[in-house]
Amino acid sequence: MKSQLLASPGQRVGTPEGQPPAPTRRNPTVGRFAAQHRRRMFRTDMLTVALWASLAAALALWLADGGASSIGNVTQAVTAVGILAGLAGMDLVFLMLLLAARLPFVDGAVGHDRALEFHRKLGKPSLYLLLAHGLLLAIGYGMAEGLDPVSEAIALWVLVPDMWLAFVSLALFIAVVVTSLVAVRRRFPYEFWYFVHLLTYVAVATALPHQFSVGGLFAEGTWQRWYWLLLCIATGSALAWFRVAQPLMATFRHQLTVRRVVRLAPGVFSVEMSGLRLNELSGSGGRFFVWRFLAPGMWWQAHPFSLSAEPKVAPPQVGPSSTLPSSGFMPRQGSLRITVRNLGAGSALLASLRPGTKVAIEGPYGVFSTAARSRERVVMIGAGIGITPLRALLESTPFSPGQATVLLRGSSADELFLGDEILELCRKRGATLFHLTGPRSENPQGTWLPASAGTTRLRDYVPDIGDADVYICGPSAWARNVLADAKSAGAREEQLHYERFDW
Ligand SMILES: Cc1cc2nc3c(=O)[nH]c(=O)nc-3n(C[C@H](O)[C@H](O)[C@H](O)COP(=O)(O)OP(=O)(O)OC[C@H]3O[C@@H](n4cnc5c(N)ncnc54)[C@H](O)[C@@H]3O)c2cc1C
Repeated sequence: MKSQLLASPGQRVGTPEGQPPAPTRRNPTVGRFAAQHRRRMFRTDMLTVALWASLAAALALWLADGGASSIGNVTQAVTAVGILAGLAGMDLVFLMLLLAARLPFVDGAVGHDRALEFHRKLGKPSLYLLLAHGLLLAIGYGMAEGLDPVSEAIALWVLVPDMWLAFVSLALFIAVVVTSLVAVRRRFPYEFWYFVHLLTYVAVATALPHQFSVGGLFAEGTWQRWYWLLLCIATGSALAWFRVAQPLMATFRHQLTVRRVVRLAPGVFSVEMSGLRLNELSGSGGRFFVWRFLAPGMWWQAHPFSLSAEPKVAPPQVGPSSTLPSSGFMPRQGSLRITVRNLGAGSALLASLRPGTKVAIEGPYGVFSTAARSRERVVMIGAGIGITPLRALLESTPFSPGQATVLLRGSSADELFLGDEILELCRKRGATLFHLTGPRSENPQGTWLPASAGTTRLRDYVPDIGDADVYICGPSAWARNVLADAKSAGAREEQLHYERFDW
């Protein structure tokens, strides 16, 4: 049975016999996901508006203080540009912190990975603005006092209260941005980069005192001071709540414990956990949590792993105990599962997890879930370990028989992890399944299909892909080829949902 399914690449399995292909919807905005999709697009637009508005507001603080009218000569113009650069740079830093704060509004609109991608994009501009701020003010103040910029910088450091902290802050920002450059980051373990990155909080804390104690813009009694204070407090509170309090609360609430570790293939295993109130996490299939296994040598490492099965709640117990009132007093036990490929020392350690190990969690995060659906048809394309979140999504995302297609890619049948479970789900739910196994193509253009697929393209497997939500998870280079193929088959950006396992 199994060998027959995996016999040839591109073999179609799992569709109920005689089932006609799903009709193509002409108008994708009509359907059960239309309103959800519109809301998500609206939220995304609102985020863009909020971003530009905050930047405009930062500059308006200075204009409303009569900043423009104070420019009478070159010295004042240089100083003014320096102040504006500082305001804009610091505003971008606040935005970066908010993008990394895992705000549910941001996560639900664009997903965690896109929020972080944008966070990264703001890194260099904010640093350049802060550098310009320091440099232009040293030049501007120096011109006013007849000093060269270096002497002026030294004078500022020595004579102006809190200014030395601002210099320390600038040095820390430089360290954070430089260690985050891809070329530099790849040379160090993730944990090194992460701990240097935490210095951002110290950099912000050391930048703040001089903003309130030097210069008149944020002087006591001004409304500008209140605006800026509010921005600091809101950003700090969001970080404390969503990055610290919420994860602690989720960990205590769900009381997750490792039940067993099941080996699937060399270096690939599933970690099954039990916990309480997991019904609250239902619909999370395909989303990811950040996991911390509280065992010696592991507790200090946190790893993002997607769910490979929808959270399940055990049915109520039948028997003498069922006569006790069940409502709310005793939360029911449930189970959760992740599937891991050991890609490094940290993930390899997890294979030796013992039953009973306590687990701390943050999440669920991301929109690799039903929350991103916009259309009735759905296509799921996975490769290697990237197949596993699709297994969870397939389990719970709504579709009618004939409306879903699943394409699994691996160099051999053994690499189609959880393939049997997926086949069973496809049969049960009426989804079309393709197993695409075999070595890669030598094609210099790069294709995501096996060499044996020849000139076959995505649209040959899914003719109506232009009217479907497409979920893609697998190695970056492979996923890029799938995305390109999906686009050339008519799928638009908003229909493509891609979970990255690397960063
Ligand atoms: C959203 C998301 C979902 C993921 N889901 C799964 C999954 O379901 N199954 C699975 O096997 N893998 C998944 N991964 C990948 C997994 O998190 C990494 O392979 C794992 O953290 C590697 O840790 P390590 O200490 O073994 O490896 P290292 O030697 O530290 O690194 C190996 C690779 O993992 C990356 N990495 C390490 N730590 C992290 C981290 N905290 N965040 C992001 N990348 C990291 C490194 O950049 C490197 O590419 C997911 C990653 C992300 C970002």
